[in-house]
Amino acid sequence: MTRIPPKSNKNDANPDTPDRVIARDASPLRERLAAMIAANGPISISDYMEDALFHPQFGYYTTGQPIGAAGDFITAPEISQVFGELIGLWLVQSWIDIGEPSMFNLIELGPGRGVLMADVLRVARLRPKFLDAARLWLVETSGRLRLEQQKRIKPTGAATQWADSLDDVPDGPFLLIANEFFDCLPIRQFVRTKTSWRERMVDVDPNDTAQLAFVLHDVPPEPEVNLPSRETTQEGEIYEVCQPSEAIARDLSDRLAHHKGRALIIDYGYDRDQTGETLQAIQGHAYCSPLEAPGVSDLTAHVNFASLIREGFSNGAVTAGPVPQGTFLDRLGLAARVQTLTQDKPPDVINDIEQGVARLVGSHQMGTLFKVLCLYSPGLSVPAGFVV
Ligand code: SAH
Repeated sequence: MTRIPPKSNKNDANPDTPDRVIARDASPLRERLAAMIAANGPISISDYMEDALFHPQFGYYTTGQPIGAAGDFITAPEISQVFGELIGLWLVQSWIDIGEPSMFNLIELGPGRGVLMADVLRVARLRPKFLDAARLWLVETSGRLRLEQQKRIKPTGAATQWADSLDDVPDGPFLLIANEFFDCLPIRQFVRTKTSWRERMVDVDPNDTAQLAFVLHDVPPEPEVNLPSRETTQEGEIYEVCQPSEAIARDLSDRLAHHKGRALIIDYGYDRDQTGETLQAIQGHAYCSPLEAPGVSDLTAHVNFASLIREGFSNGAVTAGPVPQGTFLDRLGLAARVQTLTQDKPPDVINDIEQGVARLVGSHQMGTLFKVLCLYSPGLSVPAGFVV
C-alpha cells in the first residue's frame, strides 16, 4: 500500500492559500446536522456528503452556482473550448467504431453548466448523421444546473432529456461522458486500528456542540465492504470506498456487455488501490475544512480508478487506461486544434488560448493528476487516445 498525500491539488485551488475561516453562521446545514446527530448519533461520511452536496434545501449543488470563474472551482471545459471539441471528435469516432447505429443514447453524467456538451454538439455538426442518431440524456440532480444546461444546449437544437440517475436512462447502444462527476459521489472512510478496521463517522464536537468532528464507529464494518488486509496496512491509515461509483461502473459494465458502446470517465484520482485521505472541501478556489461549512463548500474525494476498472470488468466490459489527461488530449490532436484556433488571431487571444491549454495539459496543473479511463464493449477496437 502506498500512502498518498492528504490533499492534492484540485484543478485550480491554490494549496498555498491558508485555510479559509468561514463565518459561524455561514452554514445553516451544519447547525441542522449537529442537532440531528446530537439526537440520533453519528452519521457516516457518505451520509454527510450526500446532505452537504444534495440536501433539497441547503445542499451545495441545490443552492449554489459552484462552477466557473465566479464559482468555487473551474473545470476543463470551462477553461478551454478545445477540451469539449476534442471529446466531441472522440465521440464521433466512437460512433463510427460501434458501427454508426441509427439510434443511440448520448449520455453525460453531471453536465454542470452544459459547456462540455455544447462544445461536443458544435463539433459533431461535422457528422450530421451522428446528431440525427443521438438521443441526448443528461443525468443531473440539480434543478438549477439543469436550467443552465438547457440554456446552453437548447440553441444547438438537440432534443434533450434529463434523468436523476443512470438507472432512468433506457438500455441500448450508447456513448457516455463523465467529467468531474465521480469525484463528488459520496465516499466512506475506514481507519485501520490496532486490531481491525473501523468506519470514520461524523459526530458533534464534544468541545463545541455547534461544530462537527470525526469519530470512529464502535462496531466493525459490515463484511461486504472490501477492505485491504491488515498485513498490507498500518495503524492509522485511512482507506476510502465509494460505493455509488462502484455501482455505476457495474451498471455500465452490464450495459456494455449487452449493447455496443463506450463510456469515457475523466477525473482526478489514483490508478492503484492505496490508503490516504482525499476528502477535501473547496470554497472560492481555496481549501477549507470538510466539516466546517456543509452546503456552502464543495466536497470531493479523489477517484479510485482501480475500483472502477474492477467493477468495469465485473459484468463483461473491457477497459482502457487510465491515461493522464495531458497524454490523452495530445493523442487526440491537441496541437493541430490549437494551431487552427490561433491562426491569424491577435497576440492577446493567442495568449489566452495557449494559457488555457497549458492548464489542461501541464504536468503541475491538470495534465497528470486528471486521468482518463474508458469502459467499452468487448470486441471493439481500443479507442482513440488510448493507443500507444
Ligand atoms: N461535468 C461538468 C461539471 C462537474 S461538477 C464540467 O466538467 O464542468 C459535478 C456535476 O455532477 C454537477 O452537475 C452536479 O450537479 C452533478 N452531480 C453530482 N452528483 C450527482 C448525482 N449523484 N447524480 C446526478 N448528478 C450529479
